[in-house]
Amino acid sequence: MTRIIQGFMQFRKDVLPEKETLIRSLANGQSPQALFITCSDSRLNPNLLTQTEPGDLFIIRNAGNIVPPHTCGATGETATIEYAVQHLKVRDIFVCGHTHCGAMGGLLKPEALSGLPLVRGWLSHAESLRDWINGEGSRMSASQRLARLVELNTLLQTEHVRAQPTVKNALEKGTLRLHSWVYRLEDGMVQAFDQTKNSFVALEDAVRQKMGSEVHKAASVAPLSSQVGQIVDY
Ligand SMILES: [Zn+2]
Repeated sequence: MTRIIQGFMQFRKDVLPEKETLIRSLANGQSPQALFITCSDSRLNPNLLTQTEPGDLFIIRNAGNIVPPHTCGATGETATIEYAVQHLKVRDIFVCGHTHCGAMGGLLKPEALSGLPLVRGWLSHAESLRDWINGEGSRMSASQRLARLVELNTLLQTEHVRAQPTVKNALEKGTLRLHSWVYRLEDGMVQAFDQTKNSFVALEDAVRQKMGSEVHKAASVAPLSSQVGQIVDY
């Protein structure tokens, strides 16, 4: 028996009895809080990372956490985003890249993709990063270049999400927030894009800072219009 089938048998025996009420209730419908868009990489597990249960996250996964621009029409990604925002009314969308991403490595070295024409075609949705790769990126060490490319791709794909009409509409209404994250395989930490600093910062720091500023602000709440469209609002 493979480990995968053994795992299912163990799930049936040990886990299912514990979570039976939750799992049965989900047969009646779902109301996930968030859409999580991330890479297919086996080393990143969205539910483990966010300590979420079945029913909590609507998930899109593909090589490179890529979202084709909405001008490409109906793709698996654009349709799933539309469904998540319009029908499920998720309140947050996370675009989560990760360090050491093989897809981003392929974008850096297209010659290595000669036997993978479909992967090469798929990565065309990140091709606008080519100028950076050939310019500023070319002056960095190989590891720095890949790490920064992962961040830039995460931001680019977040912009593709933002430009989708259903998302734009929900952002304008203030019913949706966008988050750009990079998960670090090295230490299990998350770096979140902080729009005010225009850089990625440790998620813990972003959360701490937000809580601190809320204490200082006391009862004064920023007008909704100033929050609309922000990538990060912790
Ligand atoms: Zn990846």
